[in-house]
Amino acid sequence: MNNNEEKATPVIAVEHLKKTFGKNEVLKDISENVYDGQVICLIGPSGAGKSTFLRCLNLLDKPTAGKVFFEGDELTALDDQNLDQLRQQMGMVFQNFNLFPHKSVLENLKLAPMKVKGMTEEDATQLAQKLLQQVGLADKAEAFPNNLSGGQQQRVAIARALAMNPKVMLFDEPTSALDPEMVGEVLKVMQDLATEGMTMVVVTHEMGFAKNVANQVWFMADGYIQETNSPQEFFAHPQTERAQDFLAKIL
Ligand code: ADP
Ligand code: MG
Repeated sequence: MNNNEEKATPVIAVEHLKKTFGKNEVLKDISENVYDGQVICLIGPSGAGKSTFLRCLNLLDKPTAGKVFFEGDELTALDDQNLDQLRQQMGMVFQNFNLFPHKSVLENLKLAPMKVKGMTEEDATQLAQKLLQQVGLADKAEAFPNNLSGGQQQRVAIARALAMNPKVMLFDEPTSALDPEMVGEVLKVMQDLATEGMTMVVVTHEMGFAKNVANQVWFMADGYIQETNSPQEFFAHPQTERAQDFLAKIL
């Protein structure tokens, strides 16, 4: 990270975040910043709390303690209505696509811009078509999700998130549910987004993507972010024993 980034207001700032479910302390004390244009890959063993952390960033999960800021505004201090406004600026893509099954691809993309932003149908259609082109699915506007491959559905889900013109995109294992031959087409769309300067936090097991696209790798285990580093450093010289063990198992 250079000095300019350090002085800028982070897009997302997390201070002493804690999240417990009953007696299960999932996130113990996390403080990290995400800066404009950064691509963060969050990696770590299953059950480490990666999904919970991502869901705490937009308050889909309510932190037990600590603060989350979005562009300087404290999300953890907002009422639901104001929270919704800021949440719209954080696109989220899940493992299982979560498209509306009874709506066409075009309708999936138009819904939120029209309902939430009050966009006209004409503008929403234009935007949807532009985004479908961007993810390589211009010819699928009238298709229904069930008639698309997993890779195509996930690209629609990305386009749908982009339709709200988010400032940051949160991805939770976006390729984990895909057949291997479809992983590449989704990673390509994500790589293009990164190249265009989108700020992204990506939970992934795709180490190639982390190596090639991320600016920073955050390694999470046992409720903490154990280390943050450039992908080059992280993969060549993991600092903690926990990360060394993890990499030894997967590489
Ligand atoms: P990861 O994404 O790294 O695999 P998760 O964030 O999904 O990890 O889960 C971390 C821990 O939190 C697990 O022990 C899981 O059982 C628990 N957990 C996650 N969500 C909930 C929930 N809604 N209610 C209770 N426990 C949960
Ligand atoms: Mg998870």
